[in-house]
Amino acid sequence: MQTTIGFLGLGIMGTAMAKNLLNAGFPLVVYNRTTDKAQPLVAAGADLASSPLNLAQAAEVIIAMVTGPDALEELLWGEQGLASGFTADKIFINMSTVPPSYTRYLARELEPLGVTFLEAPVSGTKKPAEDGALVILAGGEPDKIAALAPIFGVLGKKVVYCGPLGQGAAMKMTINLLLGVMMAGLAESINFGVKNGLDQEAILDVIFSGAMNCPMFQVKAEMIRAGAFPPNFPLKHMTKDLKFVIDTAYDSGAPTPAAHAILQLFRYGVGYQLGDDDFAAVVQVLQHMNSRV
Ligand code: NAP
Repeated sequence: MQTTIGFLGLGIMGTAMAKNLLNAGFPLVVYNRTTDKAQPLVAAGADLASSPLNLAQAAEVIIAMVTGPDALEELLWGEQGLASGFTADKIFINMSTVPPSYTRYLARELEPLGVTFLEAPVSGTKKPAEDGALVILAGGEPDKIAALAPIFGVLGKKVVYCGPLGQGAAMKMTINLLLGVMMAGLAESINFGVKNGLDQEAILDVIFSGAMNCPMFQVKAEMIRAGAFPPNFPLKHMTKDLKFVIDTAYDSGAPTPAAHAILQLFRYGVGYQLGDDDFAAVVQVLQHMNSRV
């Protein structure tokens, strides 16, 4: 008999991931703070939990894919929270992006409950989530992660074992630092060239004709060309992740000058009401800042 999976957080990523689990034949129970968003999955055959506690009681493996620590705290310890339903035979996997320090704190808090706690943040955005092609950055006990291969195999194309709890989050911070710097770099370069009288298409042609060509730049260039930024990865989430990167950098002592600079840019983006747009909208922040002295 297939493992019953409980899935919390039906946003951009969670909806696609939960749908793949359902399509793969796993009995699925879902919960989302905003209940309406669960309707398409319920229509497709998932059960709707009335509360996080109800979900924890109904499922053997519980997956969370929510914004970050604040959402997890509410789901775990709030009224009818998950934690009251955790027992030694349950597995809780946090796939949301959080800093390593939060994962380690959670491990300490959950330990007395006996539940198996694992982390599995992901590299990849909406399309890889829909295609079951995420890269899963796993942390925790290796044999317990290996035993979840049938589930991770539906969600992703690859599982990278990063080490003990917290190291999956450290890998996720490492990757999102690069992602943010690449996006801010592309936006700054295009805005700079255009402000210097160059044609945007000519700039993109040069970028795509050389070693800097990459799938991410291709996708983001499409958004910049269209001047429309439907969210694959919302700008507000990149802002949150850069803050986590910087907090983590202070914990470890690694210098992050670029992360500090681009966090300010992404924060301006949130201030300019671009938080719900894709993070490629950071180009519009630079456009707002264009000036001559
Ligand atoms: P999203 O579309 O904004 O969805 C966020 C989810 O978190 C929603 O289900 C939301 O519920 C829930 N949530 C937020 N605050 C909550 C609270 N206080 N209590 C309960 N639930 C709460 O985000 P997403 O893009 O799917 O991202 C989810 C996670 O994956 C984030 O950690 C993000 O950094 C990470 N991630 C995203 C991408 C990407 O490309 N989008 C890629 C890799 C990793 P409501 O529906 O009620 O608001």
